[in-house]
Amino acid sequence: MPSPRSRLPGCRQNSKNSNHTAMTIGVYIHIPFCRSKCLYCHFISLPINTDMVERYQRALIREIEIFSSLHANDKVDSIYLGGSTPSLLPAPHIKEIITACRANFSVAPDCEISIEANPDTLAQDKVEKYLECGINRISLGVQTFSDSELQLVGRRHTRDSVIRSLHCLHKCGFVNINVDLMLGLPLQTAASWSDNVKRLIDMAASHISVYMLDLDESTPLGQMVGSGRVRLPDEDLVADLYLETSDRLASCGYEHYEISNFARPGFACRHNLKYWTRLPVYGLGLGSFSFDGHMRQANHSSLDDYLRLVEQGKLPISSTEELGQRQALQETLFLGLRLTRGINWKRLTKKFGARAVRGYEKDLKRFCDEGLTEWNDGIVRLTKSGMLLANEVLQVFV
Ligand code: SF4
Repeated sequence: MPSPRSRLPGCRQNSKNSNHTAMTIGVYIHIPFCRSKCLYCHFISLPINTDMVERYQRALIREIEIFSSLHANDKVDSIYLGGSTPSLLPAPHIKEIITACRANFSVAPDCEISIEANPDTLAQDKVEKYLECGINRISLGVQTFSDSELQLVGRRHTRDSVIRSLHCLHKCGFVNINVDLMLGLPLQTAASWSDNVKRLIDMAASHISVYMLDLDESTPLGQMVGSGRVRLPDEDLVADLYLETSDRLASCGYEHYEISNFARPGFACRHNLKYWTRLPVYGLGLGSFSFDGHMRQANHSSLDDYLRLVEQGKLPISSTEELGQRQALQETLFLGLRLTRGINWKRLTKKFGARAVRGYEKDLKRFCDEGLTEWNDGIVRLTKSGMLLANEVLQVFV
């Protein structure tokens, strides 16, 4: 039986000698370790442990080698080290991962290479080593500059450490800096939020991501809110702050290019755009996902299974799903509508056929009547109100 991965287009044994059509791909590398668990976190994150870090690192390098032997002809134009907290790894480990990518993939000279970092894990020598190994984009998990808000949700860093790390990144020469902010945190006020946005504008962040707190009731913070011990800010206030932020950042030269993302010209995230436009991205590491344009695959999310399979020289795939035309159309709609450039309906119709797309026109026209979408010159997109209610709108296409 061929492995599921070997059924992917351009993914054959001995493909170094094959003539499959080369693709341009993004590579996502998952680092699952955190120092402690934030109180709202519902992601897979493991406590950092030196022995386990070493074993995981070896497995990751092995997975890169196995995977790349099946994708030798593909060109990589984005590498994204995400997690949990990749910046917790010592800089030589990060360098080894990037070096393994360069040694095993055909990495484009202008490849976007991003790493996610927490402010309390950065120091000048680490940042300099990131630059030396070719990392050219850093995504800083700030969430807020308010110490009381940070403390209440169990984040370890402080406003001072955020300011220090941003200064350090600028001083070392990092230009492409994303900052994640979180809207809707307990204790957040219009004034504390406004201070977050002002600081980032003043510090010339090239990219800002604004995520709404998505609270799972099983998390410690979810339980604190459920029992009434902690209150979240009023929903109308959160909605107003989101809309104000979009206007304020636009007036300072940021393009609101995706529901949660704002970038100065030329700084939109190449890697994340691949997800929203359904371009191939391969995920390596624990619990990561891959998409080759036709098929989605998931890696094992159990650390034992992941390590066992890779150490046996196998790809750690837990599931594979081949997408039909209907699913491809649904994905194109719910991912494409996240982008403010919207969806070109004529092109969509040409690709999927008039009959298939007609099934969604009624819903989209209803959303237009409700002011949640707009349809101009053949382009359909969410309005600002539609972005606020994106979950309700986009679930029609799932
Ligand atoms: S840093 Fe991120 S992944 Fe780690 S515990 Fe906090 S929210 Fe979860």
